[in-house]
Amino acid sequence: MIDALRFFSRGPGPRVLLLGGVHGDEKPGVVALERLAAEFESGGLSLARGQLTIVPRANAEAVERGLHFVDENLNRIVRPHDAPANREQGLAAELAALIAAHDAVLDLHGTPAPTVPFVFLDDESVPVRGWAEALGADFLVMGWPALYAGSDALTTTGYAQTLGKRALTVEAGRNDDPAAAEFAFDAARRAIAHFGLIIGTPRRPRPKAVRLTGMVRREREGAFARPWSNFDPVKKGDVLARCADGEEMRAPEDAFVVMPYEAAAVGEEWYYLAVPAALPENY
Ligand SMILES: [Zn+2]
Repeated sequence: MIDALRFFSRGPGPRVLLLGGVHGDEKPGVVALERLAAEFESGGLSLARGQLTIVPRANAEAVERGLHFVDENLNRIVRPHDAPANREQGLAAELAALIAAHDAVLDLHGTPAPTVPFVFLDDESVPVRGWAEALGADFLVMGWPALYAGSDALTTTGYAQTLGKRALTVEAGRNDDPAAAEFAFDAARRAIAHFGLIIGTPRRPRPKAVRLTGMVRREREGAFARPWSNFDPVKKGDVLARCADGEEMRAPEDAFVVMPYEAAAVGEEWYYLAVPAALPENY
C-alpha cells in the first residue's frame, strides 16, 4: 500500500498530488516531501485553499533498500493493472488511482550524475508551461515524448496526461546531494503556491528552454571525449565520444549535451542532444 498524507482546506481549489520515491534510489524527492509533510503536520504551513496529497515514498520498499526499483521500473508502467504480476505493477495501479483523483501531479526525481535542476515539459500547453516556469529550475526540457513515440511506457506524468491532468516531472539534482533535496523542497512549495494552495513563495528567474533533438544509445564499447556535464554546450562537429573501434561520435549541430551517462550499458541511452527552444513571452 502506498502511504499518502492528505491535507484539506476549507476553501475550494485544485487537488494537487506530490510524488517522491517513485524511483527508490532518488532521495531528493523523498527528503523534500517528508520535510514538507512535517511542516503541514506541525502547522508551520497550512493550506489556503484546495487539497494536497503528499506521497514521499511511492515505492517504499525500493526507498528502504536504496534500489531504483524492486521488480520492474515503476515509472514505465503507470496505469491500472487488474492482475498485478509483481510488486511495482501493484504500486502502479495504486498510483494510477491516486493520479485520477487529482487535478495536478508533480513527480520529484533525482539523477545519478551531477546536474542543475530541470523539468521535463512533456505537455507544452500554456497552463502547464506556466506551472513549469514557476518551479525555479534552470532548464525546461521539451521533446521527450517525440523521441520515444511508439513506446507504450507510461510515466506518472505520461499517465496523468492521458487523463487530461496537469503533470510535471522534476529532476532536482544528484541523488546524494543535499542541495538537490533543498531544491526539491523549494520546487514543491512553489508548485503548490502556483495554484494558491499556500501563500507567498519567491519568484525565480525564467528557466532556459531546450528541445531534445536526438538520443544516442551506446552501441558498443567506447568513452566520452570528455566528462560531460548536463547541459554542456557543444559546437557542430565537436567530438562527443569515441568508440573502441576508432569511430568518433560528433555533434550534428550546435547543441547541448543532455543527461550524459558515461557508464550506460551497451544498448542503453548514452546521451541526448538538445537545441534552444523558444518560450512565448506572455501567457
Ligand atoms: Zn527517476
